[in-house]
Amino acid sequence: KLVIAIESSCDETAVAIIDAEGSMLANQVSTQIDFHARFGGVVPEIASRKHVEVIVGVVDAALEEASQALGLTGGTLDPKELAAVGVTQGPGLVGALVVGVAFAKGFAYSAGVPLIAVNHLEGHLFANLLAQPDLKPPFIFTLVSGGHTMLVHVRDWGDYRVLGETLDDAVGEAFDKVAKALGLGYPGGPIISRLAETGDPKAIDFPRALNRKGDYRFSLSGLKTAVVNYIEQETAAGRTIHLPDLAASFEAAVFDVQYKKAWNALRETGAREYCIGGGVAANPHLRQMMVEKLGRQGVRVTLPPRDACTDNAAMIAEVARRKFERGEFSGFDIDADPNMTL
Ligand code: ATP
Ligand code: MG
Ligand code: FE
Repeated sequence: KLVIAIESSCDETAVAIIDAEGSMLANQVSTQIDFHARFGGVVPEIASRKHVEVIVGVVDAALEEASQALGLTGGTLDPKELAAVGVTQGPGLVGALVVGVAFAKGFAYSAGVPLIAVNHLEGHLFANLLAQPDLKPPFIFTLVSGGHTMLVHVRDWGDYRVLGETLDDAVGEAFDKVAKALGLGYPGGPIISRLAETGDPKAIDFPRALNRKGDYRFSLSGLKTAVVNYIEQETAAGRTIHLPDLAASFEAAVFDVQYKKAWNALRETGAREYCIGGGVAANPHLRQMMVEKLGRQGVRVTLPPRDACTDNAAMIAEVARRKFERGEFSGFDIDADPNMTL
């Protein structure tokens, strides 16, 4: 019983194939970063077009990879052998989502297998199961991605109480904007994170917004402005900016708040487990901070594999596999839903 999953919500065209036990037989990601980098961000029109161009090839590569993993001789895996087709329905860029959804419908229909719609945000949560298959609710989950910042009390699978969200920029978005303000390129997360490795997180005292107990909302636009002001002020004074210190201090301001709110949520709900997801969860400092500080409080911390934090189809396959087990299928009349929430 193999489930194939297709992800095309943003600028990655990804396809994964998983078996009934959760072993990943194929995990293909084709990223469009190079096509968007010169514009300093994802251009929706380009994203849709690139998905159309590569999706067939990425699916073929996944079928080929799975065939090798299964040790099939004499030809590749026949799509008719699959048990279901999972696909990201939303949230994301509508034009990008439509490509994956339309392809998945046609592919499932022609193979004569059922379709399973997957929420991309639930995918980021389920990436934790790729590292820790026995993770079980209740727990606290932080989603830190390019489009979302959410603190969630996961009371059960599918029972998500969102404790707080960002009022303005998402964490990944803030990393991208700060890198852009420094002229460092796109995406900003990995660039800032590499610079921060040799910087002093206490060098610059950046603001920590909404840093009060009981308040689970986030705000990052003030921090972003503080960084931009700092750059202008130093440049005007003729001083050179120490990029590693700036990056480390920016990270510290973002992550301090993430830690405090997560810890408060754990205390308030009585949950003893914590996990995290989304592209920013690939950040080594954030990972280390949560493991050390929450670990010291006796909380069990689960982290997704680093390459399962940014967009991928393995996490979508894991959601689809569990929906398949429960017989939760979707009709062929589903549409891409760019505004889906948890
Ligand atoms: P969403 O999942 O909310 O729809 P998305 O799919 O575009 O948004 P992800 O792919 O989950 O977002 O994450 C991308 C973001 O992660 C980018 O903003 C990127 O800068 C950030 N990111 C990636 N690696 C790191 C890192 N090491 N440190 C910090 N941020 C990172
Ligand atoms: Mg991306
Ligand atoms: Fe994402």
